[in-house]
Amino acid sequence: MNQRGRNWGGNLTYGVREVRLPTGLEELQELVATTPRLRPLGTRHSFNGLADTSAVHVTLEAMEQFVKVDDVSATARVSAWSTYGHIAPTLHDHGFALPNLASLPHISVAGACATATHGSGVRRRNLAAAVSAMEFVDGTGELVTVSRADDPDIFAGCVVHLGALGVVTALTLDLVPAQPVHQRAYVNLSRSALAANLAEILAGADSVSCFTRWQGDVVETVLHKDMRDPADDPTELFGAPRATRPRHPILGLSTEPVTQQLGCPGPWHERLPHFRLGHTPSAGKEIQSEWFVDRRDAADALEALWKAGPDLDEALQVSEIRTIAADDLWLSPMHERDVLALHFTWILDQPVVDRAVERVEDVLAPFDAVPHWGKVSHADRDVYASRYDHLDDFTGLAERFDPEHRFRNTFLDDLLG
Ligand SMILES: Cc1cc2nc3c(=O)[nH]c(=O)nc-3n(C[C@H](O)[C@H](O)[C@H](O)COP(=O)(O)OP(=O)(O)OC[C@H]3O[C@@H](n4cnc5c(N)ncnc54)[C@H](O)[C@@H]3O)c2cc1C
Repeated sequence: MNQRGRNWGGNLTYGVREVRLPTGLEELQELVATTPRLRPLGTRHSFNGLADTSAVHVTLEAMEQFVKVDDVSATARVSAWSTYGHIAPTLHDHGFALPNLASLPHISVAGACATATHGSGVRRRNLAAAVSAMEFVDGTGELVTVSRADDPDIFAGCVVHLGALGVVTALTLDLVPAQPVHQRAYVNLSRSALAANLAEILAGADSVSCFTRWQGDVVETVLHKDMRDPADDPTELFGAPRATRPRHPILGLSTEPVTQQLGCPGPWHERLPHFRLGHTPSAGKEIQSEWFVDRRDAADALEALWKAGPDLDEALQVSEIRTIAADDLWLSPMHERDVLALHFTWILDQPVVDRAVERVEDVLAPFDAVPHWGKVSHADRDVYASRYDHLDDFTGLAERFDPEHRFRNTFLDDLLG
């Protein structure tokens, strides 16, 4: 099958009847204005029905891809379909970095921001929080620009938009000074040490990821990404020794695709993602889910998951525990709260995964967990409405920019009514 006909994980065949690849802005505007139902598609890395449609997919891969750095304002205007891996070297050449990156560089900037994609770090926000302006073709075919400076009443509602407002053509991103980053893994941190020192462990580096299968009594890998001098790295982490060889998050898989570890400093974009641009990331055949809980509930949520660990074994490849700092974006799962992110890389077996997802959702329900917009969950409108105070405001924005519901699909109809 043509790769465009299914998502990256291989768990979803799109119901699409046509894929359109406009080559310029006017063609895109004409397409939107004359197509009753269409859905913008990025690099197909989401795992649920969010990007799906039974009508027309529009992808911007045939449009001009650009990265325009403004050295004075420390911002970059980038084409929407660009991947982070594609734009990062140019930013780096100008002496700039992005505030954070996700686990892999192959994701489009527009698709990542649409779903509040994130990396890790107690003081680091999700990738959408770096957006200072967004250009999109709305449901009437008009080119609209919204910016943090000029549209303070709606901007926070537009950035995490689930593809419901229009086809994003360009984004302006805030930049920070580039600094070398190094990674260091620690091995087999005991569950009791994690529980006793949770806040300190999660804040132990600029970015911390804990990988576990919730089996036995250890977190198999704690991965630090840090800008400080590697000579200052601790030799052990609450009894967990440093890794002496690179570690793949899924133990036993080849470490060839993982970005360089072992304390070797390098460019930010070659260390912040777990996986290298030139390789197939992660397991390649997988389904993913992720839930976010308030960081104040972190210890209790983790304890509850350890207890449920045996029930997840059949479906689970690996879990990743991360943190993300609060932002003000209406549909961000981190809206006005620091969160703990609980990620699950499942095997590619939907019925088995569905049972595990149900189990995790039961376990995390007392913590008002909210799912990742682009990953598998069974959440319905009631769940989202109870977690997002601005859901009705966002529905109003969607009506304003897409009055004829051109960008609607089943996921959005269920969510927005
Ligand atoms: C191996 C792997 C690792 C991942 N790691 C992480 C991680 O570390 N952190 C994390 O948070 N997530 C992670 N994800 C999830 C991923 O970041 C999100 O699903 C993201 O939305 C995918 O972006 P995409 O470009 O592939 O979007 P798609 O899946 O193509 O689309 C997602 C949404 O974005 C919209 N969209 C895309 N392009 C446009 C556009 N131009 N205009 C308007 N709307 C648009 C679509 O309509 C849809 O609603 C991972 C996924 C995979 C497969």
